[in-house]
Amino acid sequence: MEKRDYYEVLGVDKGAAQEDIKRAFRKLARQYHPDVNKDDPQAAEKFKEMNEAYEVLSDSNKRAQYDQFGHMDPSQGMGGAGGGFEDFNGFGDIFDMFFGGGRSHGPQRGQDLEYELQIEFREAAFGVEKEIDVPRTEVCDTCGGSGAKPGTKVEQCPVCHGTGEQQTMMNTPFGRMVNRKTCSACHGRGVKISNPCPDCHGQGRHRVRRKVRVKVPAGVDTGTRLRMPGAGESSPSGGQPGDLHIVIRVRAHELFEREGDNVYVDLPITFVQAALGDEVEVPTLDGQVKLRIPEGTQTGTSFRLRGKGIVRLGSTVRGDQHVRVHVITPTRLTDRQREVLRELGKELGMTPSEQSRTFIERMKNAFLGENG
Ligand SMILES: [Zn+2]
Ligand SMILES: [Zn+2]
Repeated sequence: MEKRDYYEVLGVDKGAAQEDIKRAFRKLARQYHPDVNKDDPQAAEKFKEMNEAYEVLSDSNKRAQYDQFGHMDPSQGMGGAGGGFEDFNGFGDIFDMFFGGGRSHGPQRGQDLEYELQIEFREAAFGVEKEIDVPRTEVCDTCGGSGAKPGTKVEQCPVCHGTGEQQTMMNTPFGRMVNRKTCSACHGRGVKISNPCPDCHGQGRHRVRRKVRVKVPAGVDTGTRLRMPGAGESSPSGGQPGDLHIVIRVRAHELFEREGDNVYVDLPITFVQAALGDEVEVPTLDGQVKLRIPEGTQTGTSFRLRGKGIVRLGSTVRGDQHVRVHVITPTRLTDRQREVLRELGKELGMTPSEQSRTFIERMKNAFLGENG
């Protein structure tokens, strides 16, 4: 089934304020709640759909991500891994708020899985699409989870009569004691499989490595978590599958450092460039750009390149790049260079600059203060 647009589901327009989204959702929730529409199977579907829409649109990050990328498709290549009531975090709160609790308990939901995804600095800055291999347990396609070879019958376990439990009675001096344990013949499943499914060896589930496509939005950082509903473990009892949590880890870059949305880069320049000024090439995430170093630049001075930073997650706004200048003192001078520098020193009169004069004054004062 084609997924409907979340805005359409809630009947609001794209620019709707949070208040309007909330109001629209509440109205629909009252209308389609499964408890008041017991006879209408479509109501449950609708309810599920609007819950999912609300979950995304009520969260500014998720909403921005959705605006940019549309539906994340966790079910790609997995066949019908849809959502269910149990799939949506925060649903319990909404439910309790409107209907005073009493959510229905279906079959056990599959386990959530966590996957650490390493990406490059630039990929984090601009977003990337990755295909990952997720090992997980899935219902066997061949037997549909029954564990029996297709075309053969699944019988009730004759040992436990389908209960999955074995009871043994013991006569003791204190009376009859009942001892219960998991049926050893069927391992608690309650069925007897004479012709086991060749693909899962009668287990009904098997371990597979599933390829999952992940759209990593621009602006993620180490520790960012992306949730893909329904891409986790399948349920052992026919319930909804769990979620897949992708935890981002960004590799360090050899030139760029990051702090939030801003990028920092250290740029070495010669003291001649610092003194006379120059135009230099600076690496940015968008390639080389020219930066004008003004005459008389001090070491440690930082220049800002506006909008050359990283996209703020869930938006199109970019941070800045800060270029920190380091004046490199020349080493291993030739005789000629020494001579020129001495000449320059004489010309400058070896007078300290205004700043360093102030510094020397302060130092003197500090010592005087200590002694007296
Ligand atoms: Zn099977
Ligand atoms: Zn049994």
